[in-house]
Amino acid sequence: MDEQTMFALLVDLHRDGPRQGPGSDAETLRALELTRIDRDAALDVADIGCGTGASTLVLARGLPNARITAVDLFPEFLEILADRARDAGCLERIETLAGSMESLSFRVEEFDLIWSEGAIYNMGFREGVAAWRRFLRPGGMLAVSEITWLCPDPPDEVRRHWESEYPEIGTASEKIAILEREGYDLFGYTVLPPAAWTDAYYRPTGERIPAFLERHQGEPDAAEVARLEREEADLYRRYQDWFSYGFYIARRR
Ligand code: SAH
Repeated sequence: MDEQTMFALLVDLHRDGPRQGPGSDAETLRALELTRIDRDAALDVADIGCGTGASTLVLARGLPNARITAVDLFPEFLEILADRARDAGCLERIETLAGSMESLSFRVEEFDLIWSEGAIYNMGFREGVAAWRRFLRPGGMLAVSEITWLCPDPPDEVRRHWESEYPEIGTASEKIAILEREGYDLFGYTVLPPAAWTDAYYRPTGERIPAFLERHQGEPDAAEVARLEREEADLYRRYQDWFSYGFYIARRR
């Protein structure tokens, strides 16, 4: 399947979900607490790979004087984000930006806080934290969730899956070492609990699959996308003790 077709199908499947990846409002708030940031300050915040804005809206509520730039590759997601922000009464503090996280044109030291949930794998953790550092003021905070081994010796089936999907997958200690090498001090670490995978992501995605297949009847690519989604959810169900998203909160040196 060509990339364009796959992207269009993924957007169609995920645009109506509460989130486009594992996470929850409670976990976003927990990570925000770990930043120890002054919540009432007039902060400049970026939410990179924001999807339809689940975390963006939690940040807008939790940081009442912040201005947030919400970045995603897909304008379709950003349109939904803008609608949700309008409904929540915070659209005037949110700017949406369609573009790639790999070629951001932010100013040097523009942000007090860079947020990214379930998205940095698209460019790779090491490259992402290294590239985004210059957009943070010294002392600014990075909060990023990243697929992480919970144990160093996962069973073969799940190891093979992730090493082919995302060879950069590692343990928390490996990710923390990368942050330290790239000029950050770790401030906090937390792990997404199973409910953040199932309640907020796999279950609602699974419930939308029949309608998705209806919309794309007779399209083998759509059937393949649905098959891969179900396979991934099943892999999580069987191997959830071995991997999760780690949430890394780090301060720019
Ligand atoms: N943070 C959101 C979405 C996570 S899914 C949430 O937690 O719900 C990953 C997101 O990254 C998707 O919205 C996808 O469109 C976006 N994405 C993928 N590649 C990207 C890129 N190169 N630049 C910016 N965003 C990208």
